[in-house]
Amino acid sequence: MRLVRFKVKGEAGVRAGLDQGNVVIELAGDIFRPEEKTGREYAHDRITLEAPCAPTKIVCVGLNYKDHAAESGMDLPAEPLLFLKTPSTVIGPGAPVIYPPQTRRLDYEAELAVVMGRKAEHVPASQALDYVLGYTCLNDITARDLQRKDGQWTRAKGFYTFCPLGPAIETSLDPSDLSVEAWLNGERRQSSRTSYLIFKVEHLIEFISGIMSLEPGDVIATGTPSGIGPMEDGDEIEVRIQGIGSLVNPIKKKS
Ligand code: MG
Repeated sequence: MRLVRFKVKGEAGVRAGLDQGNVVIELAGDIFRPEEKTGREYAHDRITLEAPCAPTKIVCVGLNYKDHAAESGMDLPAEPLLFLKTPSTVIGPGAPVIYPPQTRRLDYEAELAVVMGRKAEHVPASQALDYVLGYTCLNDITARDLQRKDGQWTRAKGFYTFCPLGPAIETSLDPSDLSVEAWLNGERRQSSRTSYLIFKVEHLIEFISGIMSLEPGDVIATGTPSGIGPMEDGDEIEVRIQGIGSLVNPIKKKS
């Protein structure tokens, strides 16, 4: 299944849907109850996609690819290095990433996102994937200069619009070996595979749910590979993940 959230053009309100390719079938409730349908369906040109879930938090993993740790001049972590992004960072496909005036170095980070399907607390790795709804693309937008300056990452990772998410949650996907790419203005800048993750999805869920509860719709950002780099006003950034698709967002300087 491909789960989406969308608005019908000219109408208020975010709806949940099943993307069938040619049409989106509207769900009566939310993305967690795909069996309940309204009977309405929409062609893609009648709707705008929103972020496919509404997380209470985004739990991010730093330095989870060896090559990115090397380019950052950081040692490989013995345990997952966690930080959080807040719900106010989340935007959907096509929405602009706002380049804030407080930074001079705005970077993309292409990442596989895990979307939780049910509440997870103290879940062992052996059962972890049972708690997953599916997977989507995430761009962990980072004010790199502020990340270095602050010493911790709340501000650098936390500006409005710093977490593009989407376009859809793919529910039938094995996350263990997917290509993860970033394309800036049509040029490929990052290219790796999730098989190179230092800490795998199952292990991350065990580790995080041993610290805090993961709620339905919460997102785990699994880390970015090497090739991070800056973006400018007017650029277009794309995260492309095998089996999920493409998440494209323009960059706009705050006026
Ligand atoms: Mg990241």
